[in-house]
Amino acid sequence: MSVAENLARVREQIENAARRAGRNPNDITLVAVSKTFPVQAVLEAYQAGARDIGENRVEEAREKIPEVNRQLNEGKLRWHLIGHLQRRKAREGIAWFDVIQSLDTLRLAETMNRHAVAAGIQVPVLLQVNIANDPQKFGFAPEPRAALWREMEKIAALPGLRVQGLMTIGPLVATAEQARPYFRGLRVLRDELAARFINVEWRELSMGMTDDYAVAIEEGATIVRIGRAIFGQRG
Ligand SMILES: *Cc1c(COP(=O)(O)O)cnc(C)c1O
Repeated sequence: MSVAENLARVREQIENAARRAGRNPNDITLVAVSKTFPVQAVLEAYQAGARDIGENRVEEAREKIPEVNRQLNEGKLRWHLIGHLQRRKAREGIAWFDVIQSLDTLRLAETMNRHAVAAGIQVPVLLQVNIANDPQKFGFAPEPRAALWREMEKIAALPGLRVQGLMTIGPLVATAEQARPYFRGLRVLRDELAARFINVEWRELSMGMTDDYAVAIEEGATIVRIGRAIFGQRG
């Protein structure tokens, strides 16, 4: 199957899941996750209509993004960082990516803010939440809520960041259905934040990958991040 055929099938499944949930499919952004795949694969995705591309490492981004942009004459794609960003690479992360979906600590937020302010820009970010409390995963702990509110208060006040919502990686489970309570938990948390911090957008819920995006959409995902179903198995 070609990237174009795969994309068409994924789009159809996104529409089906949105309809089942009584949602407008246009409210869901598909981020094509090209990590480990070459520039050519990203160009194929672009030709097939993809406009949002996800990468998880700065090292890979610095090889790929300038080359893709050069071939497309710049500015045609929105690049999303979806993997952990070390603070010492924060400045470079901001430079390559249009959206940082993996903002996972207050300290990283403060470092990013410093670089953004120095550059005179405001960086769109999503806050990554470790919704299943998985010790192997990055992200803000959802509990206790009081501690999370204190951190959010500080992040919401940083002038160099524009918080747009939350991101999570579903737990590794046998069936997608088993991930549902965690996706629902992220939506509940988002609604609580929206009630508490009314000057922040909180629009986006980035959740759902190849194995579980239909369930995530039923639970309110506005962004799905899909790699294998578009580009094939990673080596
Ligand atoms: C790799 C990755 C994805 C895409 O995963 P697939 O299972 O290939 O769809 C989505 N989100 C994050 C954070 C990833 O690292």
